[in-house]
Amino acid sequence: MRQTDVLVLGAGIVGVATALQIQARGRSVTLVDRRGAGEETSFGNAGLIERASIFPYLFPRDWRALAVYAVNGANEARYHLRDLPAFAPWLLRYWRESEPDRAFRHAMAVRPLIESCLSEHEMLMAQAGALKLLRKTGWLKLFRSEETFAAGRAAAKRIEPYGLKVALYDSASLRTIEPSLAGVHGAVHYLDPASLTDPLALTLSYCALFEQRGGVFLRGDATTFRPASAGYGVETEQGPLLAREAVVCLGPWADVVTAPLGYSVPMAVKRGYHTHFAPAPGAALNHPALDADNGFLLAPMARGIRLTTGAEFARRDSPPDYTQIEASEPVARKLFPLGDKLDSKPWMGRRPCLPDMLPVIGPAPRHKGLWFNFGHQHHGLTLSAISGRLLAEMMTGETPFADPSPFAIERF
Ligand SMILES: Cc1cc2nc3c(=O)[nH]c(=O)nc-3n(C[C@H](O)[C@H](O)[C@H](O)COP(=O)(O)OP(=O)(O)OC[C@H]3O[C@@H](n4cnc5c(N)ncnc54)[C@H](O)[C@@H]3O)c2cc1C
Repeated sequence: MRQTDVLVLGAGIVGVATALQIQARGRSVTLVDRRGAGEETSFGNAGLIERASIFPYLFPRDWRALAVYAVNGANEARYHLRDLPAFAPWLLRYWRESEPDRAFRHAMAVRPLIESCLSEHEMLMAQAGALKLLRKTGWLKLFRSEETFAAGRAAAKRIEPYGLKVALYDSASLRTIEPSLAGVHGAVHYLDPASLTDPLALTLSYCALFEQRGGVFLRGDATTFRPASAGYGVETEQGPLLAREAVVCLGPWADVVTAPLGYSVPMAVKRGYHTHFAPAPGAALNHPALDADNGFLLAPMARGIRLTTGAEFARRDSPPDYTQIEASEPVARKLFPLGDKLDSKPWMGRRPCLPDMLPVIGPAPRHKGLWFNFGHQHHGLTLSAISGRLLAEMMTGETPFADPSPFAIERF
């Protein structure tokens, strides 16, 4: 039987970065996934390493905004009546956790991770030869009216006390850096974040580094995961694997391990979509750009311009609904000259979300040697390298660089 010190279940960006961080601390590590590395949620995100996202995505508390969302009147968020009964208890908790004082506490808890998210990725990227994927240009939040731009400027001001930098543009000054964008009233340029030209390539480069350093990647199904006499076992295509310790990095599928072991985790998914377009001849997009008033983002990627959508509140496994991406396309075409569509159908991913928008990072309280690192919501790419480090420090007895207690599963 194959044996390893640590089994990491799930080879999305969180699992692969966690495996690298544990391996760097001297443990033999085996990664197990039912698919290839990075082929699920981590495949299709917008590629932002959100160094400026101190404040999480909150449930709106303004009744006018809620009334719009209630009738599916805003493209950035959509829900399905058929899924509402399953979602309602989670939404209620999300609403409660978005109360301003609580939300501020959550933001301060995750702040040390946000502060080091980019430097930690840069260190791993340098080792993996992946710095060529990184673009340190920040990203743009675009507004179509003075009213929304004023609200955008106020939101941008909130992050300045944390040492983060923004630039403000009117439509004329925006044209100096993005001459192909049209119909924009004003923009906030978040200068500290970075972005990737190919999120899948990053996961694959981390996985290649992990294997070069002696790590093993196997195909296997986490539903076969079981506590065993001397640790934990899982079935793989290469036969059974036994590990002294195990880490659950299954993102939206964490429940396949947590539920049978008796951990009740209030996870829901906010689904999102993408599709790629060729830029029209002569057009170029130099920064990822979020159309804040219309709820979609355009990101320049190696494959073309990636249009990504906001949040769809639906059950993880309900059939895809392309309403948001279909509504975004004509608006996006007026914003930026898009050419041919490059994908035969949109891609769908699932952001794994806990109601307080904090991940679960830390030990399983009733299972010695079992650890969790999942639930990174809108920021799984951003937080992967740094949350992997935090977990690896906890597992190996190092002093954690940040207080891990806000991320403990016991909070539920
Ligand atoms: C449209 C969109 C845009 C986004 N933009 C950004 C962004 O710009 N920046 C950012 O930081 N984040 C962004 N995100 C969020 C980010 O993509 C996720 O938080 C992140 O990918 C989660 O990574 P993960 O490794 O936890 O999950 P995943 O990538 O889903 O990995 C989980 C792995 O578990 C495996 N698995 C599942 N079930 C089993 C099983 N039974 N047995 C074995 N393996 C199994 C899967 O195959 C998968 O590889 C975006 C998400 C979406 C949908």
